Amino acid sequence: MNDRAKTFRGGYKFINFEGQPKDILEEAAIPRQVAIPLRQGFGGEGNCLVEPGQKVRAGQIISSNEDNVSSPVHASISGVVKEVKRVNYFKRDCLMVYIDGDGSGDYQRIAAAASKWEALAPEELEKLIYLSGVSALDREGIPTRFHSSVIHPEEVENIIVHGVGSEPYNISPQVLLQGRNMLNLIEGLKILHKIMPMAAVCLALSSRRKKILEEINKLAVNLNWLEVYSLEPKYPQGYDEMLVPTILRQRFPYGYSAANIGTVILNLQAVVQVYEAVAEGKPLLERTVALCGPAFKEPMHLKVRIGTPLKDIVAPRIRDGIIPRFVLNGLLTGWELKDLSLPVDKVYSQIIAVPENPEREFLAFLRPGLRRDSYSRTFLAKCLPGVKKTCTTNKHGEERPCISCNYCEEACPVGIIPHLLYKYVKGNIIDETLMNLRIFDCIECGLCSYVCPSKIPLARYIKEGQEKLSIQGCDRNQCILPYFDNLKGIEGYRGAKEL
Ligand code: SF4
Ligand code: SF4
Repeated sequence: MNDRAKTFRGGYKFINFEGQPKDILEEAAIPRQVAIPLRQGFGGEGNCLVEPGQKVRAGQIISSNEDNVSSPVHASISGVVKEVKRVNYFKRDCLMVYIDGDGSGDYQRIAAAASKWEALAPEELEKLIYLSGVSALDREGIPTRFHSSVIHPEEVENIIVHGVGSEPYNISPQVLLQGRNMLNLIEGLKILHKIMPMAAVCLALSSRRKKILEEINKLAVNLNWLEVYSLEPKYPQGYDEMLVPTILRQRFPYGYSAANIGTVILNLQAVVQVYEAVAEGKPLLERTVALCGPAFKEPMHLKVRIGTPLKDIVAPRIRDGIIPRFVLNGLLTGWELKDLSLPVDKVYSQIIAVPENPEREFLAFLRPGLRRDSYSRTFLAKCLPGVKKTCTTNKHGEERPCISCNYCEEACPVGIIPHLLYKYVKGNIIDETLMNLRIFDCIECGLCSYVCPSKIPLARYIKEGQEKLSIQGCDRNQCILPYFDNLKGIEGYRGAKEL
């Protein structure tokens, strides 16, 4: 491992935010009813294999389809199927299976799983990963010969596993790797290496997690195919678009997937779940989710069955007298969770609750205060010992003219000039200049909007500019793809995204 933490130009470190989840892991009660979307994680929707009135066991496959890019979905509790219907799920039409539970917590394991997994052939390992549903995790899915990703395992040149934690609120690697899970992570990496033998494996962790880095380095000492990286936890380092250039010194076409250049990116939890699937026969029934943010009474981690309604886990944990806004996975760019009857699914990692604060504050920019986060380098913006930064939904000020401070340009991780793009789009000058200013390179991290002292929603203007260019007939793909050779699985990726 290199001693010096790797990083990229631009970005921003969120430090000392109130409401970080404690290193506590609780197990949520088995829910009385679950709603299971048949499209979760990477890939398309499978065929529904159950019908109302049918008895199911936790761990039973209720949906699969080997003809499209997808992975099986399982019943997460035992009980009776109450209803199967189409719903609007995160703006996509999706089949949802509702199960009334019988209260039991056991589940059926995958046959053929083996604690001595080293004796299994790669095909058998891939089958176990596919049958467990773990193959749907993260942005590319895990390649297997069962059509769970857009590329074949033999095409994979690099695997990046990360737990960098560069968001304002992060799931704790300490919690994910507690107990035997550190060893299970290493075993999970060995399994992935066996099914993707041509790939170099990179494990990237935050440079702040020195103890974990030390322990992993000791465990990895004889694994010459594994490289451990210490990365600065600077936002948006956890984005695939930043991990690839920071670690591999490569790029992939923005708007596409790292799989298109033969790279698979997974998080720590996914790799631990690969081990559990293969060696313990555990299907993907639950997620460890971090409950973060100042609106929770006690921010912490919760192990929860997939399909559990959000209201079951968040409502009892909100501080009295607070009206919260819930955001999924990322504070700057995550989805706002408006409907708490929605279920937890395979992609949940953080549920963030921040207090609603609609009050208008007169001349807010003149009194930033010690508890408000700020990009500026003034004394007041610094992090003082014992003083935590807080956040609410308030912008703390109104949109004002651009003061050409250059903060947005300085912070942009892909080196484009947000204030210039904003001025063109606002002036309705929609032409090739926007393409010359690399408007399609924006990775939608939202950092420019966050750091702007004039509260200009720059990322929104950039998105608007991209949309207007498309309406004028500009083909985004033609602006991006000609700069890359030997791309893999592009058509499959489009198909998997559009389904
Ligand atoms: S949203 Fe786009 S333009 Fe703004 S900082 Fe991120 S990458 Fe740069
Ligand atoms: S950060 Fe805001 S005020 Fe500063 S240059 Fe960018 S758009 Fe203008």
